[in-house]
Amino acid sequence: MPEISKSVGVSGANQRTDVTTVQSLLIKSARYLGSSKLYVATGVVDAITTAAIFRFQRVVVGMKNPDGRIDPKGGTFKLLNEVAAGKNPVPIPPPGAGDAEESAVTVPPAPPAYTGPAEPKKHNDCPFAEMPMFYRWFAPLYWPIRTTNSEGRQVCYQDIHDKDHGNRSRRYLWPRKGGTRYHCGVDLYGNHKDMIVAVESGTIINHYPFYLGTHCLFIQGDSGIVINYGEVEAGSWSEFKLRKGDRVKAGDPIARVGKMTKSSMCHFETYTAGTKSNQRWKTGHSRPNGLLNPTKLLLLIAREGL
Ligand SMILES: [Zn+2]
Repeated sequence: MPEISKSVGVSGANQRTDVTTVQSLLIKSARYLGSSKLYVATGVVDAITTAAIFRFQRVVVGMKNPDGRIDPKGGTFKLLNEVAAGKNPVPIPPPGAGDAEESAVTVPPAPPAYTGPAEPKKHNDCPFAEMPMFYRWFAPLYWPIRTTNSEGRQVCYQDIHDKDHGNRSRRYLWPRKGGTRYHCGVDLYGNHKDMIVAVESGTIINHYPFYLGTHCLFIQGDSGIVINYGEVEAGSWSEFKLRKGDRVKAGDPIARVGKMTKSSMCHFETYTAGTKSNQRWKTGHSRPNGLLNPTKLLLLIAREGL
């Protein structure tokens, strides 16, 4: 069990090795901290580190008046070690928990987890959007659609054995417009006005009218992946006081599911960093710049996302 020699945090001795130890444990406990921004153990106590200590004390330890300090023999450090090691699992708080001043909006729970039966097929040699492994260890990921739709987190895709799962017309690269172009995203199930939350933390880089009266919302995540949350309700980000250029935290509400002529869904696309608008892929043409296959990422979030 990792130990510290002196106190860490507010008014602590804050020796570098001790701070690194505490930060590493907090990062391992990230999913219990609501929306912690502590991603890297720097060995230096900064505002993000003390905020994470306060959160841990408030959300996990249950302290009414947390002091923001971790002592070598204190209860906070003992529990932090246990939680980081997975020995003392505590309930995962809803997004925004422990941060009352920031959580004016209640985020509904995600539908039950879905595990794809097999690996997805790589269509047309298009690369998958993949979360770097190191990133997955400390950054919580959220299923974007907070819905009661009976299909829940179903990810429609074709696997490496060419077997379809879910409705194939919703999957990546299924033909559209009489076979003249491809479907560049995956259609996620949701009902009109369901809340959409950010899969990961990032920055809003664009939004504009998209398809049949709906809009799209582009967020570049801290992992580098750009997500187009497509077919959302026009202007629905304003409800959450968001505009282009704003930062969003993983799990923050960002928009609502829009309505086309009859149907509602979230058309989910992924791109490489720097992409600011959606790309069309015409049949017989090469892959548009920056387009990535979102299926693998969606299957990961469907299985493990909060
Ligand atoms: Zn679609």
